[in-house]
Amino acid sequence: MINFDYSKPSNQKAAIDAINKYSSAQFIAGGTNLVDLMKRGVVSPQKLIDITNLPLKNIEQKNGFIRIGALALNSEVAEHALIIKKLPLLSQALKAGASPQLRNMATVGGNLMQRTRCPYFYDVTMPCNKRKPGTGCGALKGYNRMHAILGASDQCIAVHPSDMCIALAALDAKVVVSNSKTERRIPFLDFHRLPGTTPDKDNNLQRGELITAVEVPDNDAFAKNVLYTKIRDRASYAFALVSVAAALDLRGDIVQNARLAMGGVAHKPWRLLTAENFLNGKAATIANFQQAAVIALKDAKGYGYNNFKLKLAPAAIVQTLKMIAGLS
Ligand code: SF4
Repeated sequence: MINFDYSKPSNQKAAIDAINKYSSAQFIAGGTNLVDLMKRGVVSPQKLIDITNLPLKNIEQKNGFIRIGALALNSEVAEHALIIKKLPLLSQALKAGASPQLRNMATVGGNLMQRTRCPYFYDVTMPCNKRKPGTGCGALKGYNRMHAILGASDQCIAVHPSDMCIALAALDAKVVVSNSKTERRIPFLDFHRLPGTTPDKDNNLQRGELITAVEVPDNDAFAKNVLYTKIRDRASYAFALVSVAAALDLRGDIVQNARLAMGGVAHKPWRLLTAENFLNGKAATIANFQQAAVIALKDAKGYGYNNFKLKLAPAAIVQTLKMIAGLS
């Protein structure tokens, strides 16, 4: 690890001013991913700006949405009474992530900003277009068991590692960001990027912008019949092979509205909009769930070691929907 400067500003303006002064400065909060990246030489910021003194920890009900401060800890959000009551899908997804120790350190903002766990990205002796553009992709013809089956490019087949973000994508959250002059809200599906020809860019946050909160619609229709399913190699402290965040607004056995997103399959949280549209207005039957899963995976492609995901992903969708509908 190389030397770096460190500061801990006490207000938002000072934090944003500080990051604008250095081309490679980075914000740090829990540090549960960034410190690992620095130790391994994957990133080498000149300056770390510790934002943990900023007043961004509140979890509150506003007019029509739940606002979660960017510095709220993953464990606090998962156990918060308002989240359990209003956003149980988010609580489930958070509890499926990492380990209790990590959830006690990791923040909501940091969870959004965490980087892929592709092993070639972390090994600085290997080619990786995300770490060093133009060097190639070690995973394309390498050991790609954990990698993407949707939305990948010939430059990068990495997946986004978060569980929390999969639930937020399904629930139509917005990411609130501020720079030195203004504040804007980014729809969750537009926050993270697909790799395309610029896999080094994980998201659409601009230089000098700070994530201050996440806002999730306060919609009771998606607060009852929900389930986050995570399939992984061991029961804790493992990333998803595939995961499914699902919420059904059921009237009798009819799906009025479906919300579906997947993790472990793409470079960003992957919303299953065509499958949702198929289910809307249809009966909650196993046949319809199977058809929705076929639609969701229509464009999926394996890269060798991850071909098993082509069967695992639709099976996870069907099983999740069956459990929500009481058919399992
Ligand atoms: Fe790098 Fe992406 Fe290829 Fe992994 S999949 S080696 S992160 S370019």
